[in-house]
Amino acid sequence: MNGTEEIGCCGAYCGTCREYLKTCKGCKPGYLDASRDLSRAKCKMKKCCLTRGHITCGDCGEYESCETIQSFLNHPGYKYGKYKQALEYIRANGHTAFLNTAEHWTGAYGKYPK
Ligand code: SF4
Ligand code: SF4
Repeated sequence: MNGTEEIGCCGAYCGTCREYLKTCKGCKPGYLDASRDLSRAKCKMKKCCLTRGHITCGDCGEYESCETIQSFLNHPGYKYGKYKQALEYIRANGHTAFLNTAEHWTGAYGKYPK
């Protein structure tokens, strides 16, 4: 598994979650090698993002105008703002920088360097 498989299409980060691969299969594992059926996935973002071959919705040319991702990111609630921050960080700095930042998080989101 490479690190980017642990970044959810919506910007949630699975890599530091204790339930990841114990009780939760995560956003992407199994879909990239077709051992899970993407057509049965419930998440619209994931279906669209992986079908288009993106790592996250942040890589998509339609990110800013896409109702699917924007309505998700604009849900009320702290975590959605943090997922949005993750995608914006990836857009500005790339996946490697994001993974370096997320390495010490203890959940699906965390702090960024100043
Ligand atoms: S909400 Fe969708 S895109 Fe985000 S982590 Fe869950 S399955 Fe992946
Ligand atoms: S931003 Fe929208 S169109 Fe682009 S991959 Fe995500 S869900 Fe699909």
